[in-house]
Amino acid sequence: MAPKQHMHIRFLGTGTSQGVPVIACNCAVCQSQNPLDKRLRCSILITVRDTTFVIDAGPDFRQQMLRENITDIDAILLTHEHKDHIAGLDDIRPFNFLKQKAIDVFAEQRVIDAIKQEFSYVFAKEKYPGIPIMNIHPISETQFSYKSIPISPIRVLHWNLPILGFRIQSLAYISDASYIAPKELQKLENLDVLIINALRFKKHYSHFNVEDALAIVEQVKPKQAYFTHISHLMGFHEQVQQQLPTHVHLAYDGLTLTI
Ligand SMILES: [Zn+2]
Ligand SMILES: [Zn+2]
Repeated sequence: MAPKQHMHIRFLGTGTSQGVPVIACNCAVCQSQNPLDKRLRCSILITVRDTTFVIDAGPDFRQQMLRENITDIDAILLTHEHKDHIAGLDDIRPFNFLKQKAIDVFAEQRVIDAIKQEFSYVFAKEKYPGIPIMNIHPISETQFSYKSIPISPIRVLHWNLPILGFRIQSLAYISDASYIAPKELQKLENLDVLIINALRFKKHYSHFNVEDALAIVEQVKPKQAYFTHISHLMGFHEQVQQQLPTHVHLAYDGLTLTI
């Protein structure tokens, strides 16, 4: 097995599909002045050695790159094709222009087909000048490597839609699960950090709630767990954090970890 490399993780966004605050919502969480209660759409940035990639590129991708002063990325791993996870793909263009390179995009074939539909101009036979330049790499549930970093896809269900999470060394990231089969849970053993979705306290058909996410944490026993893809209905960051076990954390935008 390859020696373990240090990994830096930055939470670019920890909000559910509408973000927090939600447009036109007057609830107390959406009105909160605490920066920890402001959540852009869900994404993380991972750096291993000199390789930087993001998992998902939602509609807030541009703001996230600006906020965190990101000057280069190499690749994007996509969990699935919903807009809150892909709609920022056009904003890879500054990296294309400034670094004179394509961005590697890893996704399942169904997700690639959706991207080709959503961003048809990118894939047109006659290329419009200035379009985003992506190298598309189809992936499956099989482990693959990127610049010699092994990446293991984790199959999860997002209601009835099969989507992917990813394990990289002792980190796993699962953004939109409502079910994980026992054989996939085995891939989550011996983690230093599990990042997993927890939408709110009340049950939801396509996302784990706090109780579901805590049950997964209890089962696979990571050293630390971070909840993400959070709704305004979750409540105030600081109040919810106090109700969680000491090794379980609500993630927040801008949080960084080194493992
Ligand atoms: Zn989502
Ligand atoms: Zn609200």
